[in-house]
Amino acid sequence: MRAMVLERPGTPLALRDVPDPKPGRGELLIRVAACGVCRTDLHIVDSELPNPKLPLILGHQIVGRVEQIGEALSADLGEPFVLGDRVGVPWLGWTDGQCVYCRSQRENLCDSAKFTGYTLDGGYADLAVANARYCFHLPNEYQDVELAPLLCAGMLGYRSYRKTGDAKRLGIYGFGNAAHLVSQVAIYEGREIYAFTRPGDKAGQDEARSLGAVWAGGSDESPPEKLDAAIIFAPVGALVPVALRALARGGTVVCGGIHMSDIPAFPYKQLWEERVITSVANLTRRDGEDFLEIALRVPIKAKVESFSLEDANLALDKFRAGQLNGNAVLEISPPSQ
Ligand SMILES: [Zn+2]
Ligand SMILES: [Zn+2]
Repeated sequence: MRAMVLERPGTPLALRDVPDPKPGRGELLIRVAACGVCRTDLHIVDSELPNPKLPLILGHQIVGRVEQIGEALSADLGEPFVLGDRVGVPWLGWTDGQCVYCRSQRENLCDSAKFTGYTLDGGYADLAVANARYCFHLPNEYQDVELAPLLCAGMLGYRSYRKTGDAKRLGIYGFGNAAHLVSQVAIYEGREIYAFTRPGDKAGQDEARSLGAVWAGGSDESPPEKLDAAIIFAPVGALVPVALRALARGGTVVCGGIHMSDIPAFPYKQLWEERVITSVANLTRRDGEDFLEIALRVPIKAKVESFSLEDANLALDKFRAGQLNGNAVLEISPPSQ
């Protein structure tokens, strides 16, 4: 099969012809139709996340169809998969099911978790293998390319959003793909969105307003009212004290990314009055199921910019340079032979 392979961090992906993967016990072999490109992929390529599997096939927002089923599949799956089913594969690819986190429905924090497109091979390829326990059935109402961004930007954004509790006034710092998806849910649920973009990014602010944000401005501006919670999607640690200063008493700042630059020191009084700083790591299967269910009700629409498999490096470069107009998705059609 064809795959875009990361052989060494800091170098471009290489188009390679590699042996087809084989599904093991409890695994599915999936013919990939679409695979989202995530900021996390950039962090891996740019050596900002330690110890990826090497060589590695990136990609953890996989939409495809079941082509082969490994043995012993249906043991404890509520809804088993059959050949031809359309499935989604997210970031969380495997957990041990035994550690203290797994036994308390917090498998996102599992001691020995494995991650798609990081410590397991992912979906920048014609075929991918995934453990069926972590795959999702996908709603028919969406097309393949529309679903891919929901599997990470959507699901992890949703977990960040849920951490804000019942906050009425919700600030979002970094109004990119995750913010775009999650603010549709928040507005559907009656929250007020305060969108913070890079200072001077008028286009981004206009877009946030057109999506329904009650206020949009630069991250150097103060919102007109104190916020009940804020989510930071930008990988910029300096935004943590900025967001704290925008909070009302008892408010929460949620750091929604897997990687962030260092957080500068700030006076304790900015944290005092029971303000909280927390982060979000990975997702649980429950997050994924809940999000797909609400996505359909809203219904959430993802903006997509499509690339071919061979153009994965172009997609990553445009992402790094902030030149994408929506979620980058690799559209992968079977090789013509
Ligand atoms: Zn991701
Ligand atoms: Zn575990």
